[in-house]
Amino acid sequence: MRTLVWFRNDLRVDDNPALHHAMEHGEAIAAFCFCNAQWRDHDVGDNRLAFLLDNLHALAADLRELGVPLRTITEPWFDDLPDRLLNLAERVDADGISFNEEYPLNERVRDSKVTRAFEGAGRTVTVHHAGTVQPPGTVLTGEDEPYTVFTPFKKRWLSQIDNSHTAPLPRPDPQTRPDIDDSDLPEQTDGVPRDRVAQRWPAGAAEARRRLDDFADERIVRYHDDRDFPAVDGTSSLSPYLSVGSLSARQCLATAVENNGGKLSGGKEGIRTWIDELIWRDFYRHVIAQFPHVSRRQAFRREYDRVPWRNAPDELEAWKEGRTGYPLVDAAMRQLAKTGWMHNRLRMVTAMFLTKHLLIDWRQGERHFMEQLVDGDFAANNGGWQWSASTGTDAAPYFRIFNPHTQAKRFDPKGEFIRRMVPELAEAPDKAVFDPEGNATEGYPRPIVAHKHARQRALDTFKAAQSG
Ligand code: FAD
Repeated sequence: MRTLVWFRNDLRVDDNPALHHAMEHGEAIAAFCFCNAQWRDHDVGDNRLAFLLDNLHALAADLRELGVPLRTITEPWFDDLPDRLLNLAERVDADGISFNEEYPLNERVRDSKVTRAFEGAGRTVTVHHAGTVQPPGTVLTGEDEPYTVFTPFKKRWLSQIDNSHTAPLPRPDPQTRPDIDDSDLPEQTDGVPRDRVAQRWPAGAAEARRRLDDFADERIVRYHDDRDFPAVDGTSSLSPYLSVGSLSARQCLATAVENNGGKLSGGKEGIRTWIDELIWRDFYRHVIAQFPHVSRRQAFRREYDRVPWRNAPDELEAWKEGRTGYPLVDAAMRQLAKTGWMHNRLRMVTAMFLTKHLLIDWRQGERHFMEQLVDGDFAANNGGWQWSASTGTDAAPYFRIFNPHTQAKRFDPKGEFIRRMVPELAEAPDKAVFDPEGNATEGYPRPIVAHKHARQRALDTFKAAQSG
């Protein structure tokens, strides 16, 4: 039995069910498809694309050690993949195809077309789950409905964890290499060189593992206390690796549980809190798998598609470039532009600022994040944006609007992060950093909108939308 193992956002040989299954039952040939036009249409940006390609190179090296050849297909759109993959299977004499499921709508449509093509040609298809700890459809309410609120989802998720969820699959044993050459991997894709983010984000499963172990050995126990402070290196920074799948959520969970004396709940507060974040990750993936309208760029709570979002291109530009005159917002947006990553607290602050203070459509912000983030991930990004815009599952209620100055005082109390990211404020006194509306700094913009006015405008607009 020879199987084509189709890699997508699961670029690893450890804990990879599709690869594991294929090698256990015979011989594996790996395949990867470059679909640049489709990915760009999904707003995938240069940072994410470069990181994906660099991780693919690392995967190719790991596959070589296992004797697994890697073939690539380049096809701009998903539409032609069924024919191209089937043709590849015929050429390498594969009996079937195996892959780990992806959850956004276009990916699922693509996969069902590939499945039909293979089955129609008398070849097998085996589908596995590797993108979450617990697959969508397995965490349901008593009425067998998907959860739309996080806390009961988490309770159910925790109650049904078993050993399979905390036991990553081992690396398969090497096979005798079949007489098939590797495809040459490109050094760039869609004009983006693979090393674009390599200095800050070295690629590969070994690097991901090293970072996970470092975090679990030291910082994880302080996670509960440190995670909200952007000036502190308090979170794992593993999101890019989880996003391309050079690391699995199950590997993360297993490491966390091992460091917590085998406990999933209870034990060390830092570890427990970090496990919650892995559950949030599962939650948003379940949401997109179970509510397809979310993949169609619609608000989860449809009544909020009535919000009359403002068309304010200059303000949108100022937000993107970190020129709003709100120091914490600007520091965050400059962190994003400079590093391709942003601290979670700041993702909430900047997203809420765009959607509430500026009343600009969350989809504009969602797109900009995807275009910039090295960890761009449709489910987490959409979930985070709809949470901040109060349009999503279990979202922040619309009347809870963060005051960016208060957030700065709480989470960057010495203004360290702000001064690091916004050089115009490097020497500015605290009052200019925390109360810029009354204390201008030369060379730094005045606030684009007054907080009090913006807050009231958002409250009035959301209230009207909610009541129809
Ligand atoms: P840690 O705090 O160490 O958490 C561990 C892992 O848990 C993360 O790597 C991530 O995979 C997962 N995780 C943590 N928080 C969340 C969350 N709220 N929702 C879902 N998963 C979570 N995360 C992305 O991976 N890609 C995105 O495109 C993305 N866009 C976001 C947009 C907005 C507006 C918001 C509010 C959040 C977004 N997040 C996104 C979630 C979160 O901000 C990042 O996962 C986190 O900041 C990554 O840093 P870390 O790896 O140090 O996380």
